Parts: sequence; C-alpha cells; structure tokens
Amino acid sequence: MSPRRGPAPESLAAYREKRELARTPEPEARRKRSRSGRLFVVQKHRASQLHYDFRIENDGVLKSWSVPKGPSLDPAVKRFAIAVEDHPVDYADFEGVIPEGEYGGGTVMVWDRGTYRPEDDTDVAAAFQAGELKLRLSGKKLKGAWVLVRTDGDRWLLIKQRDRYAASTDITEEAPTSVRSGRTLAQIAADEGGDVARAATGDPSRVA
Ligand code: MN
Repeated sequence: MSPRRGPAPESLAAYREKRELARTPEPEARRKRSRSGRLFVVQKHRASQLHYDFRIENDGVLKSWSVPKGPSLDPAVKRFAIAVEDHPVDYADFEGVIPEGEYGGGTVMVWDRGTYRPEDDTDVAAAFQAGELKLRLSGKKLKGAWVLVRTDGDRWLLIKQRDRYAASTDITEEAPTSVRSGRTLAQIAADEGGDVARAATGDPSRVA
C-alpha cells in the first residue's frame, strides 16, 4: 500500500502542464491515496460543452474519462467516453468555478461519488491497458456493474451491465444536482462567481 502523502505520481505531469495552478482553484496533488484507495467520482462540468468526467482511483491517481452525454442506467445505451489525463486524488473533492480563459474554464459539480471495486479483483492498470474495465460502483446515483470498453485509441464506451440497478429512466435528468452540496450548476456558478447563464444552459437542472 502506498503512503498517503509524498511526491506526485509522474502520470500527473500532463495535468500540471495543462493548467496554471496559481490561476485556478483546482487542486494540486497532495494526497496520494483516499481512505478506501478505490474512490470513484463523476463530475458534471459545464466548460465549452456540458459533459461528465468519470474518474476512478488507482495507484495514486484518478484515471479519467470525459463522457459528453453522461452515464446511462440503460444497458442498451453505450455512452461515448474519451480517456483524458490522469487527475490527482484530491480532484474528487473539487466543486466550483474554473475561471474563464483557463483550461476547462466553467463550472464543476460533484455529481456522484463513492467507491468502486474491479470485478473479480482484476488488476486495474492491466485491465486499462487491455481496454476492458469491469467495475462495481457504490455511488449515490450509480451502483452495480458497469464496464468501460476501449474501441480505438482514447475512445471508450461506458455501459451499464444488466442487474437490479439498471433502469430506462434518464439519471442525468432525474438526479441533476450535486451529491456534495445539493446545488445545481447554476447555483454553484452563482455562489462562486461563475457564469450563471452559461452554467444553466444545457443543464437539465436549469432551475436556479
Ligand atoms: Mn471536464
């Protein structure tokens, strides 16, 4: 088990390169591990486009995918997910406003959070390399069996597996607010000096 603190993992170089950490409230890498070591978070992010960032903790970082339409509980729906740079474990707590003009400028919400475990206790790094990650999620909104499958390069699909948590309702419409604060994107923008009108557009939780 790795120590909870220490030098940031090398795979976070891209995270740091993309950002001016002095100009954004986004965290630097401080913690190397969450309590469980198997944290999972989905952040709803209104940048130039509304999307959902799906992240799972492994080896001191959050492996991350950007999911334009967000997760679907319907096993028949395959959601496109693009693999993006590893994020620090501390990022799972981040909810707020990235200033306009900075990388990813816009409002960020902690849309879901919990822990996960790899199906059959597979090695996550090896499964990531192989392009098929079977996960069991214990979030507030997302639960049960899920799979991420690589189709090509950075392109993956996020798919709900059939179990008692599968549903045909739209979870992004049904449960649009923060699991951390209960706020909508517009409320977060209003509270933290962001662009309220932009945070509200394209958001099913539009009511500010
Ligand atoms: Mn994002």
